[in-house]
Amino acid sequence: MQAMLLKKLHAPLEFCELPDRSPGVNEIRVKIGACGVCRTDLHVVDGELPDPKLPIIPGHEIVGRIDALGPGVEGLQVGERVGIPWLGHTCGVCAYCTGGRENLCDRPLFTGYTRDGGFAGAAIADARYTFPLGEVGTDVALAPLLCAGLIGWRSLTMTGEASRLGLYGFGAAAHIIAQVAKWQGRTVFAFTRPKDAAAQSFARGLGCAWAGGSDELPPEPLDAAIIFAPSGDLVPAALSAVRKGGRVVCAGIHMSDIPRFPYRKLWEERQLMSVANLTRQDGVDFLRAAPRIGIVTETTVYPLQQANQALADLRAGRFEDAAVLAP
Ligand SMILES: [Zn+2]
Ligand SMILES: [Zn+2]
Repeated sequence: MQAMLLKKLHAPLEFCELPDRSPGVNEIRVKIGACGVCRTDLHVVDGELPDPKLPIIPGHEIVGRIDALGPGVEGLQVGERVGIPWLGHTCGVCAYCTGGRENLCDRPLFTGYTRDGGFAGAAIADARYTFPLGEVGTDVALAPLLCAGLIGWRSLTMTGEASRLGLYGFGAAAHIIAQVAKWQGRTVFAFTRPKDAAAQSFARGLGCAWAGGSDELPPEPLDAAIIFAPSGDLVPAALSAVRKGGRVVCAGIHMSDIPRFPYRKLWEERQLMSVANLTRQDGVDFLRAAPRIGIVTETTVYPLQQANQALADLRAGRFEDAAVLAP
């Protein structure tokens, strides 16, 4: 199979022809139709996450069809379309797994980080962590749901009943979650890089009530905010924008350092938290809701062999929407 392989950190991915693997116990092999490019892939390539498996095939927003079943796989068939997300495996026995918080498992495997992912023609996955996707929607349109959508959904859930919601960083995740939040009847305020007119008009086009720079305050205080951009500077900015008792949720796996800020920004029971990974239940809940919401994903598509260009364009902010590789 063809693959884009990260052999060492900070280096470009290399196009390789690798031997096909057979699925092991509880595993499936999936012929990939599309794989989203996520900011987390950049953090892996840039060595910002500890202990990646190397070499590694990045990519954890995988949509494809099963072409081989390993021993012990139940409830899935060859030819069925499935999604493979970031959470690739959990131990099942630690206190987090048994306590309903498998997203925090002590011994997890993550797709495209500690097990091979989807910047390739095929992937092997633990079947128990994959999601049947049905036949509605193209592979490319569904791919961004597998991380941007899913982690965004978990982050949105953490904002509770917040009716005035701020989204900091308006890219792949926010463009999906803005649609979900609006469908739920929330009012969405989009914060982009200062003076980024293109991103602000993209946000307004998706139904955001207001769009402005992250250095601006919204026209009214927010009940909650989600930070999708990897900039620690946004933490005090978002705390300044939420009302008393409001909550700020950091959705990214990596962020630059949070600058010092006065305690009064947190005072009055404002809350600051992060969201890590996903549970399988998050995936079931979100993927069940997605067709009812009628989420439309906007994508920029690259051929598999242009994965390095896709990563460079993401790094430079050259597109507003979600990048997807199609083999
Ligand atoms: Zn565990
Ligand atoms: Zn991701």
